[in-house]
Amino acid sequence: MFESPLEDVPQRALTGDLPDEPQVARLLREAHARYAGLDEGTVADYIPALAEADSALFGLALVEADGTTHLAGDTAAPFTIQSISKAFVLALVLDAIGHEAVHRVVGVNNTGLPFNSVIALELNQGSPMNPMVNAGAIATTALLPGGWLAVHEGLSRFAGRSLELDERVLRSESETNHRNQGIADLLTSYGRLAGRPEEMVEVYTRQCSLRVTAEDLAVMSATLADGGLNPVTGEQVVTAEACRDTLAVLAACGMYELSGEWQFEIGLPAKSGVSGGIVAIAPGKGALGTFSPLLDRAGNSVRGQRACAHLSRSLGLNLFASAPRGKAHRDG
Ligand code: GLN
Repeated sequence: MFESPLEDVPQRALTGDLPDEPQVARLLREAHARYAGLDEGTVADYIPALAEADSALFGLALVEADGTTHLAGDTAAPFTIQSISKAFVLALVLDAIGHEAVHRVVGVNNTGLPFNSVIALELNQGSPMNPMVNAGAIATTALLPGGWLAVHEGLSRFAGRSLELDERVLRSESETNHRNQGIADLLTSYGRLAGRPEEMVEVYTRQCSLRVTAEDLAVMSATLADGGLNPVTGEQVVTAEACRDTLAVLAACGMYELSGEWQFEIGLPAKSGVSGGIVAIAPGKGALGTFSPLLDRAGNSVRGQRACAHLSRSLGLNLFASAPRGKAHRDG
């Protein structure tokens, strides 16, 4: 997935802070220019309405933990949030019912299998394994007290504005999501779904059909980088503990079966969606929201991944990178 090495991109040493604002803005523009012409990947078509997406669109947004916003390219283009909603619904559920319940009912380990796998459920005695694959996401949505209204209100608080439903995508997915309906029935047969399967799939499909922009994604995920406080609206959306736990799950499972490769190259909690969005979160610093509809085989945006790899390196975001402290001291 990351065959082009980035040796020409200077690796910024970890400082605990982002570079100054003009430098962040410049590096964002640089990453956008570098990948805007990349045409690898295909638009998702298993949801018929998504096949009509404009594959030329490409937007990069970065919102710092103090609310400072940087934009490059098509950051105001609307698209449906799809699986990225799973991250924010998980945060709401953790906030409402806590760490232990999510661990027990859903799980937090990677399946190593595609996001819509049915086999993963059978291989794991009906455990959905984690809240980022469809089975786990449907089970997680069912745990949120308040149903659709709570999902809609919660995701809107993350975005700092009332998000609208894309009725066309909702209809298109509802008419064709036999696989998700099968998954919900299977969860029910294992006693793992806290609600009626048709209803839970309906709420889940609605949450996936909420319309966002790359800028919205950056604001929403910057809230996860800022201990649950939306840095633009100043509202405390969820607790800092709920953010911490959400980011741990995103690190392990956010990019599905390619999560290991993602960490190896980028080193950040992240989540993708089949309409082409990605969020990548640098705790305490800020977050990236990217949009480009061309996807790799796991359903992750190709340009979005490359841009995140570039920015993780150039902005010094990789969580696993360190510089030898003793050496820094010795060198003065
Ligand atoms: N709504 C989509 C589905 O359930 C979301 C999948 C995704 O974005 N990976 O299939």
